[in-house]
Amino acid sequence: MGSKRVSGKAGKRVSTGGQRPSQESQSQSSLLRENPLSGMVPRFEIPGWSERYGVVAGITGRGSEPGRGFDLGLWSSEPVGDVMSRWLTFRREMANFPAVVLGNQVHGVEVMSVDGGRGWIQMEGIDGWITTQPGILLTVTIADCVPVYLLAPARGVALLHAGWRGTAGGILGVGVDRLLAETGCPVKEIVMHCGVGICGECYEVGSEVVLGCGAAADGPGPWHIDLREQLMKQARVLGLDHVTNSAWCSAHDRRRFYSHRASGGTDGRMVAYVGMPMEPAGHRVLSQ
Ligand SMILES: [Zn+2]
Repeated sequence: MGSKRVSGKAGKRVSTGGQRPSQESQSQSSLLRENPLSGMVPRFEIPGWSERYGVVAGITGRGSEPGRGFDLGLWSSEPVGDVMSRWLTFRREMANFPAVVLGNQVHGVEVMSVDGGRGWIQMEGIDGWITTQPGILLTVTIADCVPVYLLAPARGVALLHAGWRGTAGGILGVGVDRLLAETGCPVKEIVMHCGVGICGECYEVGSEVVLGCGAAADGPGPWHIDLREQLMKQARVLGLDHVTNSAWCSAHDRRRFYSHRASGGTDGRMVAYVGMPMEPAGHRVLSQ
C-alpha cells in the first residue's frame, strides 16, 4: 500500500517489505530540541544528526522578517513571487543538494522513492519520501502536522508528513516498511525523530480524531490528542529502538514557528527537510 518510486529513468512500482515484530519492544524515546542555525534561512536542525550520521535534517522557521516572515507555503493566497524567492533562498542555502523534492500533500499515506534527477522534483498527492542517494533533499510543508524523519544510517533517509489522518492511516508503517525494503537496514538500527508539530495540550479535536488514532474518547469532549505520542507508540510496535521527539510545539512557539491551528488557519508554512549531502554537512549552531 502506498508505495511508488521515481528515478532518473522511468518510474516503477515496487512492493513494500520489512519484518514487523509481533510484540512491542522496550524502546526508549527522549526529547530533542532542534537548534537554530545562522544564515539567510531561518532554520532549526536536529542536534547530532549531521555529526553522527552526515545527514542534513531540520525545519525552517518563521524568521524575523515582518509580515508573513519566511512563509514557504506554495498552495496559499500568499503572492507566488514572494514564496518562490524564499524557496530560491532556501535552495541556495542547500547548495549540497542538486535536487529538491516536494509534494502537494493530501494527508494520505502515499510514500514515493526518489533516486535520481536534478532541480525541482514535484509530485501531486504524496505525503512521504525516501531516498538512498546523496544530493537529494526531501521536503514536506508543515504548520502543526508532524514531520517524521527516518534514517537508515549510511543507507537512506525518509521524511513523512503526519497529521492525524496520516497517523491514523498508518503512514509511519508504510514509510518504515519501505525504508527497510529499500536499504536492507535492520529495523533496530532505524533512527526516527518526530519533529516540530503541535503538542497535545494545544491540539483540541473531535472524537473522530481520537478514535481514528486508536485512542479512547472518554467523557463529553472536546478531546486532546498528542500526535507525536501516537506516532511513538506506533514506532514501538514497528520495532524501532531509536526514537526521539521534538521539544518544540508549533502553537506554543509561534514566535519561531507557524501554526495553522493557533492562527485560525491564516498562518504560513514551514518546510521540514532531510537529505544526505554531496559534501559533509557543516555546523553553524547558535545559542538558543
Ligand atoms: Zn503546544
